[in-house]
Amino acid sequence: MRIILIGPPGAGKGTQAVRLAAHLSIQHISTGDLFREHIDERTELGRNARTHMRAGLLVPDEVTTGVVKERLARPDTERGFLLDGFPRNLAQAQALAGILVDSKLRLDVVLGLDISEDQVVRRIAGRRLCRQDREHIFHVDYSPPDVAGVCDLCGGELYQRGDDRETTVRKRLEVYRTETAPVVDHYRSQGLLTTIAAHGSVQEVLHRALDAIGQGQADAAGTSN
Ligand code: ADP
Repeated sequence: MRIILIGPPGAGKGTQAVRLAAHLSIQHISTGDLFREHIDERTELGRNARTHMRAGLLVPDEVTTGVVKERLARPDTERGFLLDGFPRNLAQAQALAGILVDSKLRLDVVLGLDISEDQVVRRIAGRRLCRQDREHIFHVDYSPPDVAGVCDLCGGELYQRGDDRETTVRKRLEVYRTETAPVVDHYRSQGLLTTIAAHGSVQEVLHRALDAIGQGQADAAGTSN
């Protein structure tokens, strides 16, 4: 299955993407995570990406589509993939369409997460990630770890992302409205979009997501935490 998960920052894309990809046995591809890996490895690309990310801006399209193209060319995506955070503007959507045509592949569904901006700001302010594994995501109020500051899953230290401060979050929301919302409309007009409400618990949203993409009968309990 080939899926795009789309929605504003803080909608829970990363949290749901990990669970959906595990449930469907497909690769989770997050452009944000790919950039953070480059930043950790201190590559040239990472330095470039970091400047834009810290300002709440999009990383330039050539850089982003290059990273995605390279990632989609790896054989582990053969069973399918879930794109999280890409495409984020219409130029990226076009670039993706080109990559898919070249590989004779088609998208199955674009899953939109719907949430109010107030809730986004609250969610992002409390978000904490694990230093050992960024797919381990917590929230100080909504899904707190058993011990404050420590990952329940692997004992890693929890930290706040550099771009999760409130002023940067406001900028990211503005970028979402102007650049990414048109991508949602584009996929709606292609008949590929299905939207779900992103409020409620992680499990509730996961069940809604699986129902929306026609995988709802299966038991999603195994992918909870
Ligand atoms: P969120 O969805 O919460 O904003 P991400 O980890 O997806 O978090 O993205 C963090 C930042 O990484 C974005 O604000 C942007 O600077 C950069 N980024 C991620 N994906 C893209 C993309 N497709 N195009 C350009 N920049 C991106």
